[in-house]
Amino acid sequence: MGYMSTDLTWQTVSTDLSGTMRLAEQVGRRLKGGEVIELVSDLGGGKTTFVRGLAKGMGSYDKVASPSFTISREYKAGNKTMYHFDFYRLQDPGLVANELAEVAADPQAVVVVEWADIVESVLPAQHLTVRIKSTGEDSREFSFTYPPVLSYLIAE
Ligand code: ADP
Ligand code: MG
Repeated sequence: MGYMSTDLTWQTVSTDLSGTMRLAEQVGRRLKGGEVIELVSDLGGGKTTFVRGLAKGMGSYDKVASPSFTISREYKAGNKTMYHFDFYRLQDPGLVANELAEVAADPQAVVVVEWADIVESVLPAQHLTVRIKSTGEDSREFSFTYPPVLSYLIAE
């Protein structure tokens, strides 16, 4: 059975790298575990940078980098774990889609996904989507789309 809800949106801008880090850390501090976040932008838009801020805000000291093909990275934060997937240019997610579905159901896990198009069917319906648009070398427009149940993540 599906769910009935109207997704909410919130938009903001970042004028430089540190602005994006601040924004992502703010969301990261609000993560409880059990959330799934999809990041959408062109290459170089700032998805991985945003994940770096999320992990930091969540309390992780682990190094955040782009996962290589089919491989997810894990960042520890206390008793929680952030799983970072990147499906860039991947034709077939194979078993990684199963891994994603599994960790997405773990209440101690936070799942963040770059280039999620090929795994859209395994993403839980209720997730946060962060769209980033480059509007200049250092400026970015952010658009957050989320169901009301995830409103606690958004700091207006
Ligand atoms: P993606 O994962 O979307 O390909 P990255 O986060 O790897 O993007 O790269 C973003 C690049 O843009 C980095 O080199 C970063 O320093 C640069 N950048 C410049 N301004 C910003 C900003 N406001 N927010 C995020 N990244 C920025
Ligand atoms: Mg990236």
